[in-house]
Amino acid sequence: TREIHLVARPEGAPRPEDFALVDRELPEVGTGEILVRNLAISVDPYMRGKMTGVRTYTDPYELNSPMEGGAIGVVEGSGDESFPEGAVVVHNAGWREHAVLPAGQVRPVNVKGDIPATAYLGVLGMPGLTAYVGLLDKASMRRGDTVFVSGAAGAVGSVVGQLAKLKGAARVIGSAGSAEKVAYLIDELGFDAAFNYKDGPVMEQLTEAAPDGIDVYFDNVGGDHLEAAIGAANDFARFALCGWISSYNATEPQPGPRNMGMIVAKRLSLNGFIVSDSADRTGDFQREMVPAVADGRIRFTETVVDGLENAPEAFISMLGGGNIGKMVVRVGT
Ligand code: NDP
Repeated sequence: TREIHLVARPEGAPRPEDFALVDRELPEVGTGEILVRNLAISVDPYMRGKMTGVRTYTDPYELNSPMEGGAIGVVEGSGDESFPEGAVVVHNAGWREHAVLPAGQVRPVNVKGDIPATAYLGVLGMPGLTAYVGLLDKASMRRGDTVFVSGAAGAVGSVVGQLAKLKGAARVIGSAGSAEKVAYLIDELGFDAAFNYKDGPVMEQLTEAAPDGIDVYFDNVGGDHLEAAIGAANDFARFALCGWISSYNATEPQPGPRNMGMIVAKRLSLNGFIVSDSADRTGDFQREMVPAVADGRIRFTETVVDGLENAPEAFISMLGGGNIGKMVVRVGT
């Protein structure tokens, strides 16, 4: 079977040479273990952080060993009677074609109807839960709020904007990095306004899109987006700080917002969060989101790259904005 190893720690933007495709023998499936053949693997921004040698909220990847990450696969061999062959499971042994795992490390998924299995890596998986928890719990979004989300055409952001509309937001504004993405937000996902942050200063474009200010900011980007959102915030606005992708490839510490004083003057709440701390919300999330996705109230797009060998390119492309919706790598059928 084949797997991808990290062979060098990227300096700045990752390069294909930082990864290697490695062949290896699969171990025997022991009692209490499961053999999974992966159908698709996830490439996510947080993986860039794990490629540095530094521990943040998770351990870094080790060099010359298989990387980890979200994946969905089919059980092909089972040493545990609760997981029959053919069952579909999600787990964290991505970046490879097969994995032998303790049964406790896989979670069954009831793939049904028209929803593809890959959705459980995106809209119905970790990124969807991130949007749900961030918007509802961390930013305490309420009916009538004006909501701004950056990285709006991506896996998390596209769910944030739609969920905000479903929950009665008065106005939803998104930013993204191309005209095609801006059109997608407005025409396909029902955003009220959207702009391309590459077209001009974020502060100016946001002020124009939100003349009455914003009540909620869902931050996927950091940097000048965060500064602009502080500038546009109404008193008592609530921010869910989810990611800071504008700095993930930075080799030097980046400057913070220059208008931090406004956090005090406007009595803003800024809540950083990591989705894994909110695993207890998974049941609520699934009860609400599976029907909403099934009946089309929440729409989703995937950018699918074929072949495990192309996973590093998919990851690099995602960091550079090459995806609309969730970037996934299909490794089997
Ligand atoms: P996306 O699907 O949004 O893909 C990443 C996107 O980031 C790209 O498509 C690109 O879109 C955008 N981007 C890249 N560089 C920049 C930049 N310099 N400025 C602005 N946008 C940029 O990824 P996810 O939805 O999976 O993740 C979104 C964010 O949420 C990330 O910051 C991630 O780390 C964070 N996250 C946090 C979690 C948590 O628990 N706190 C859990 C999951 C995700 P564009 O073309 O618009 O530039």
